[in-house]
Amino acid sequence: MLVNSHKYGRRTAMKIIQTPKEMSEFSEKMRGEGKKIALVPTMGALHEGHMSLIDIAKKNADIVVVSVFVNPTQFGPNEDFAAYPRSLEADAAACEERGVDVVFAPSASSIYRKDASTYVVEEEVSANLCGKSRPNHFRGVATVVSILFNIVRPHAAVFGEKDAQQVSVIERMVRDLFIDVEIIRAPLVREKSGLALSSRNKYLHGAQLETARRLSQALLVGKKMVEDGCLNIHRVKAEIVNQLSRSSRIRVIYVEIVDAKTSLPVKEIVPGKCRAALAVWLDQTRLIDNMVL
Ligand code: AMP
Repeated sequence: MLVNSHKYGRRTAMKIIQTPKEMSEFSEKMRGEGKKIALVPTMGALHEGHMSLIDIAKKNADIVVVSVFVNPTQFGPNEDFAAYPRSLEADAAACEERGVDVVFAPSASSIYRKDASTYVVEEEVSANLCGKSRPNHFRGVATVVSILFNIVRPHAAVFGEKDAQQVSVIERMVRDLFIDVEIIRAPLVREKSGLALSSRNKYLHGAQLETARRLSQALLVGKKMVEDGCLNIHRVKAEIVNQLSRSSRIRVIYVEIVDAKTSLPVKEIVPGKCRAALAVWLDQTRLIDNMVL
């Protein structure tokens, strides 16, 4: 499927590809022509955070593929898979405007056979943080990213530090399995208010949006403590929890201080090398945020 061509001075039209077979064939052709391919995996409902990943992909490759796939295997049984915002038309338009070459939007049945029984499980990085509160989440992520890598055959893939633990899991997976894909980290993009951009912000309304700003504010308080010389993990963590708990809408799932690159637990804070990561329930919406301290 082709969408509006020749907009914004593009020489070729952006493609929307919906089957793994067509995607693989396109990538093989591009590789044959010596083109470098970068993949930006997403679940759609694209915002400026995703667009920043696309910009980085464009700087690092000749061909940018954005996958839009709400991956069923990374959602738990009581999570928001059904409610997750889906807006392929608007996503494709945004991608085209940003200069993406291919939007790969496969159906779930083309990615997973009914009797699929093979998963990729990373066991150490996945054990903390979101891995504890979302059993099997990272198994779903590692599996779908492996599948996407096998179909798209990218030279590089861009992941955002909004999901810092996810990048750490993918980096570990690529290292352990000798997967020949360069993993590029993209910085977390925030609104002016400090709120980390997220597709799940669409679930928030009115006063909830106000409350959501407390996440980054709490992290900033932690960062300031470290800048002022407090390197005690328990005190910094406790203060972040304290800041969050001032709102009755917020229930803390976790606040942890981890290694900024590996997302593994640390014993002491090393300024610039540690990351405070948190997850909360804001009413019925699960939100995450993190900041290097
Ligand atoms: P998602 O569609 O939420 O699965 O996210 C797809 C990719 O975009 C992941 O690598 C995310 O980390 C990244 N991403 C989402 N929100 C942001 C943000 N605010 N800043 C940077 N990257 C982001």
